[in-house]
Amino acid sequence: MGMSTTAFCQKSDYPIQPVAFTHVHLTDNFWEPKIEVNANVTIPFVLQKIRETGRINNFLRAAKKIPGDSLTQFPFDDTDLYKWIEGASYGLQVKKNPVLERQLDTLVGIIAAAQEPDGYLYTFRSVNAKHPHEWIGNKRWIKDSVLSHELYNAGHLYEAASAHFIATGKRSLLNIALKNADLLVKDFGPGKLQIYPGHQIVEIGLVKLYRITHNKKYLDLAKFFLDVRGPGGEAYNQADKKVIDQHAAEGHAVRAAYMYTGIADVAALTGNKDYLKAIDDIWNDVTDKKLYITGGIGATGNGEAFGEAYDLPNMSAYAETCASIANVYWNLRMFLLHGDAKYIDVLERTLYNGLLSGVSLSGTKFFYPNPLASMGQHQRSEWFSCACCISNITRFLPSVPGYVYAQNGNHLFVNLFMSNTMDLKLTSTNVSLTQQTGYPWSGNVSLTVNPAAAASFALHIRIPGWSINQPIPGNLYYSMAADKVNIPISVNGKSISYKMENGYAVISRVWKKGDKVTVDFPMPVQKIFANKNIGADAGRFALQKGPLVYCLEGFDQADSAVQSIVVNKDAAITETFNDRKLNGIEELTAAGVSAARVSNSDELIKTSVVAKAIPYYAWNNRGSNEMEVWIPYEASAAHPRPAATIASKSKVSSSVKSRLMLKALNDQYGVQNSNDKSGNFLHWWPKKNTTEFVQYDFDTAYTISSSQVYWLDDGPWGGCRIPASWKLYYKKDGAWVPVKNTTEYEIAKDKYCTVQFEPVTTTALKIEVQLPVDNATGIHEWIVK
Ligand SMILES: [Zn+2]
Repeated sequence: MGMSTTAFCQKSDYPIQPVAFTHVHLTDNFWEPKIEVNANVTIPFVLQKIRETGRINNFLRAAKKIPGDSLTQFPFDDTDLYKWIEGASYGLQVKKNPVLERQLDTLVGIIAAAQEPDGYLYTFRSVNAKHPHEWIGNKRWIKDSVLSHELYNAGHLYEAASAHFIATGKRSLLNIALKNADLLVKDFGPGKLQIYPGHQIVEIGLVKLYRITHNKKYLDLAKFFLDVRGPGGEAYNQADKKVIDQHAAEGHAVRAAYMYTGIADVAALTGNKDYLKAIDDIWNDVTDKKLYITGGIGATGNGEAFGEAYDLPNMSAYAETCASIANVYWNLRMFLLHGDAKYIDVLERTLYNGLLSGVSLSGTKFFYPNPLASMGQHQRSEWFSCACCISNITRFLPSVPGYVYAQNGNHLFVNLFMSNTMDLKLTSTNVSLTQQTGYPWSGNVSLTVNPAAAASFALHIRIPGWSINQPIPGNLYYSMAADKVNIPISVNGKSISYKMENGYAVISRVWKKGDKVTVDFPMPVQKIFANKNIGADAGRFALQKGPLVYCLEGFDQADSAVQSIVVNKDAAITETFNDRKLNGIEELTAAGVSAARVSNSDELIKTSVVAKAIPYYAWNNRGSNEMEVWIPYEASAAHPRPAATIASKSKVSSSVKSRLMLKALNDQYGVQNSNDKSGNFLHWWPKKNTTEFVQYDFDTAYTISSSQVYWLDDGPWGGCRIPASWKLYYKKDGAWVPVKNTTEYEIAKDKYCTVQFEPVTTTALKIEVQLPVDNATGIHEWIVK
């Protein structure tokens, strides 16, 4: 029941329109199997999780169909069901599935029953719990700018309803959404409530309702929700300035990128030039200063936010899966506005790397942050209590074919490369097109053009930045090979000359049935270097082949160690396709050196190793292990394998329960300063003014007489400072006894703080830490001698 793309074209809209994924049928060996896994495994799996975690019960309780007032953890948990419906609906557009369609009918019925008579739909209020969630105001909407997420839920409802309507032709969910949107139109606007959405997305959702209904009130409300932001709010959710006065990316990355997407939509539909200027500037800010090589955005977990310019730590990289999805949404819109291939370069990089890493090959395990280095502390999970990334990737994957082509009248854009067949109505003729390619493993692409009748139109074939040694628009990253590359294109076996326009090879001609275009993108392995302002990547390079960024993972190295490996800048790289590993990947190998420390000496033992790299998206599918994207070529950038120490052989415990953080204390990963977040660390944020502890249980009794702690202090912006005080206790006959210190307990930033004490022989040592009155504290490393 799919509608043609042209049904959505408004009088004023994006000059370029994407070719809907219902018109693109994948036949490739890379994406098609992933979309199959999503349909056959992830969609049923995630629905099961949504059900067993009580998210459907939220709706049933709101509808008074089951008793009780207990709810799940977060007021935005309703959105997981909405996003699931969106993904399931996309699936239905490609393949009939009566069982799934019945499930959808049942769930839509439950949602309808939970909607209040005037259209309000928000289970956390309708359930009317005896103890309301603290994020909810005592009246509708009043806390939305802060935490209630009422409008966030609405936005995801509208997206789900649009997808469901287009997929099934049924108005059941659409009517629920429209009734809710009409309530918003009644409650918000000039002369009514002037509240901005705390977590953006309702703007995108309203535009989708506008495209379906052509009712301008939904577009006007989307614009109102943008214009009512700022000044005077918080940068955290982009409300410190009017949106038209925002020219740099700041705050929570998912909220930001959803907002930029919404701004692009409204700009396209209204022609608002101030909006365009704002998102053009913000886009430059991101690509010039705040984008990971994997396409991830939002460097810091502190507020799930964009960091400062060039602050792109690898091990603590947040790069949330949702932010990658939002980055793809935003870059598609930027392309539709401007027609420039550079936006698709960013989109493709994100899609193949920082987004795809968000889901396991099995389709049942997920990443929330997508770090670029690990000591083995990171692990995929089947579920998170905040499940945004899981439901987001579930809904996103089936839509991938919709990113391959786009159209403007008689201009057909080929943006992504994956084998498929496509049909489309151009101004001059109907055309079907067959794309065949070995992408992403090889760069040969052939396009067979079949117009209904011979007709003139222009084919715009994207020349990916990576194929001409321009990994990313701007100068954040650069390729070692700087030579100009000429991409050969031939038509019907004859090499042609073509003109380049906005990053596209443009071939205008009269096309006949069976005309065949072949493009051969050279796909050598590239060594990518980072702008010198990115401290975290100094002395390192990343391996890339075609659109794929690579990483070293412990499983593929002889001794599982990754952080200790150094590979020469000029090292030759060998490529081997291994169809039995990780569902079939190309592996890269290079000769390198691994360094290890020895006990009680500065000497390093160096051994020759074969460093093996796998595509980044495929990491952490064999369990947890060391990993890194940025490979040191300078020995000083590597972390030699530590020698065994009393600390490294200890069992760590703490008043913080995070397995990830416990590993930090004795990992001997070098620290530059107290605010160095390039490695792993332990912290007690957001606690303050409490007494906490860390503890080592030794593998045997040792006689010890000194200890050193490197404190975390991320002031002035972060919430951790050096502690108010600390004190050591050792275990004696099962009880904790303070050591008799012979020096003061040092408390300072940017150094190891030492305490000496009268020797004790013991099997366990504990630090008691008093947090500062107004802050938390944290520890990078704890040494015992
Ligand atoms: Zn998320």
